[in-house]
Formats: sequence, C-alpha cells, structure tokens
Amino acid sequence: MIIDCDANATYSPDQRIRGVISSYLESLGNPSSLHRGGQRARAAIEEARAAVGRLVNAKAHDRIIFTSGATEANNTIIQSFRGSRGELVSASNEHPCVLEPLRQLASLGSKVIFVDPTSDGSLSAEAVSKELTQTTALVSIMAANNEVGAINPIGEIARVARQRSPRAVIHSDAAQLLGKGTVSLDALGVDLLTISAHKIGGLSGVGAIVMRDKIDVKPLLIGGPQEGKVRGGTENVIGIAVFGVVADALVNELPSRIQGMERVRDDFERMVLQEIPNVIINASGVARLPNTSSLYIPGVRADDLVVALDLEGILVSSGAACSSGKPEPSHVLISMGQSEERVRSTIRVSFRSDLSRQDVPRVVTALQRASERMRNKQSGASSVI
Ligand code: PLP
Repeated sequence: MIIDCDANATYSPDQRIRGVISSYLESLGNPSSLHRGGQRARAAIEEARAAVGRLVNAKAHDRIIFTSGATEANNTIIQSFRGSRGELVSASNEHPCVLEPLRQLASLGSKVIFVDPTSDGSLSAEAVSKELTQTTALVSIMAANNEVGAINPIGEIARVARQRSPRAVIHSDAAQLLGKGTVSLDALGVDLLTISAHKIGGLSGVGAIVMRDKIDVKPLLIGGPQEGKVRGGTENVIGIAVFGVVADALVNELPSRIQGMERVRDDFERMVLQEIPNVIINASGVARLPNTSSLYIPGVRADDLVVALDLEGILVSSGAACSSGKPEPSHVLISMGQSEERVRSTIRVSFRSDLSRQDVPRVVTALQRASERMRNKQSGASSVI
C-alpha cells in the first residue's frame, strides 16, 4: 500500500466528491445561460461560494472570486499593481507564483523588495517593517511556507503595515494554511487572501481570491463579465462545486483534522530523531503547519532518497512540487541562509489528515533504512577516493 506523505503538493481528492462529479457528467450547463441547465450550474457556483465563505469566515460584503487556482489568484492580484508607483514588498521565500510576477513587474520598472526570512523560515514583522514607507502600495506575505511549513506572523505584519503604510493593500497567499489553520481576512488582518482547492481535497485547477469589497483587483483574464468582472471565462462548474463540498466538510472538521495531523507529525518526528542520527528539523523554532516536517539528513542526497522511498511505496518530496523534477536547489532553504549541503540533503514529509498514526513506523523504518544505506554507500565511496 502506498503511503502518501506529500500532501503539501496536492491532497488526494476527498471521496465524498464522487457524487457531485457524477451528477454533472450527465449534463453541465453554462452558468451564464438563462435556461434551467444554466441556472442549475449558477446555483451550484453560488452554493460553493457560500461554503467557501463559511470556511474563511467571510463577512457579508467580502467577495470570493473563483479562479483556476492559487497561481492565477496570486498573478491576478500582483498584476493589478502593474505600473504602480509605490513599492511592492514581499519575501524571498514566497511561492514562485508570487515571486515571478513580482520579478516581472520589477523588470518593467516597479520597485520590488523581497525581505529574507530568518534561518527558521519565518518572516519577522520587524524585518518587513524596515522596508515599509508611506508610499508602499502592496505587502504580499504568505501565511505559511509550503516547503518548511513555517507560519508567518501575518496579523502582526499587517498591523505594522497599516501603521507605516496606510495606503498599502495587504495580501497573503494562504494556499498552505487553508485546512491546517484558521484562514480569514479578519484573523490574518489582510485585505486579500488566495486559496487553492486541491490543497484541501478538492480538484486541482480551482482556487479563489477572498477580498474585502473596498479593494480593487483588476482582472487578469478579460473578455467576459464572470466573477463580478474580476475573472473572465466560463467558470469551472464541477471544480467549483467540489471546492464547495470539501470546504463545507472542513468547516466542522478543521479542529479534529489539525489535531490528527499534529499527532502524526509529532510521532513521526519523535521516532525520526530516535532512529536516524544527526537529523535536523528545519523551522522547528517557529510556529509550523501541523502536517509538515522538513528534515535535513546530513550525508543523504534528497533526490536519491525520494526515489528510494518511492520504491518502498512512500511518497515524499525533495522540495516544492513545482520545483522538484528540475535540479535547481530550493530557493526557500537558500533564503534561510542554509548551506549547500543542507539544501541538497533536505526532504519534505507532509501528512494528509486521514493518515493513521499506525502508518508512522513504516514511514520511519523506510526512511531510516534508506538513509543508512545511502550514508554507508557514501562513506564507502569516499574511502575509495
Ligand atoms: N501558493 C502556495 C504557497 C502553494 O503551495 C501553491 C501550490 O503548491 C500555490 C500557491 C499554487 O497553487 P495552485 O496549484 O492552486 O496554483
């Protein structure tokens, strides 16, 4: 049996969505059509909007704009600042779908500042504060890091930003915190949030911008009046309906899911520290996602370890899903000032909320055996040299 410990990349769909999907396979209306097929699709979208709204504790005037994922949501928000005269402040360990559009705006003349995290992978409000001015236009800081799991003090950062930069729009990419912590505009103190369905058991290719109504976001995709003219194009009805179903389930299940993930993660880390010599847990000094363990295993190449564990039926990652498959080292660990060896020898283990504690020993044993084999091989190889 395969044990999927790569939940931060994507989370296998919740099985409760089967019925929703099959009901749309018979007929799928266009939500903009006036006939009953269209109205059924429209109703499904509005029901999903209400469910996602409940999950993020949205107020009556807050808006939820469905997109094709957090990547599109982040791009839409950042591209809204094209040509802005004020500075755009973000962090060097953000997801590439925040970093790249910001770099593009920088190449077009915007002043973009990337703040570095601490060696534990979180952003200090003080470090962000130093970069804020009266003219700052955007502050975009992720709620939690996808690779090491560090949770940023967004509430504190937002408070400082409101004082120092009263005109700034404050955004947080909450794609990883959703389903693993409290995500709401008020709880985080921000104007805009981005979220993704497949990180909570929905389908990939669906996400949303959650925004306060006073905020003006320019559409990235133009040509249709859908989603309040913020996102043109026929809506992904099935994906959005499924997002609603998984969001609805999560409203009640969040506390127990967090507790379950924490237990599994704590068991796992306790056993790893006992069984594998010299392991260091990245970001262990700061608040972390309840399901994420980023492990530095000295002397073991992460890419080889991922393949070795895959052969044993255990899925982990050597970095973020979007960056694995290409040989570039993790920009997140680099931004934390970690050594090249540590960057090369770090794996990410991220647990689903339905993983049983009974599965943990199998994961640790496989990890321990594979690490030992690789360390032996390496020390053998160096003695030949
Ligand atoms: N932001 C973060 C922090 C992520 O972890 C991811 C996905 O890995 C994304 C954004 C992109 O989300 P999506 O796959 O919905 O485009």
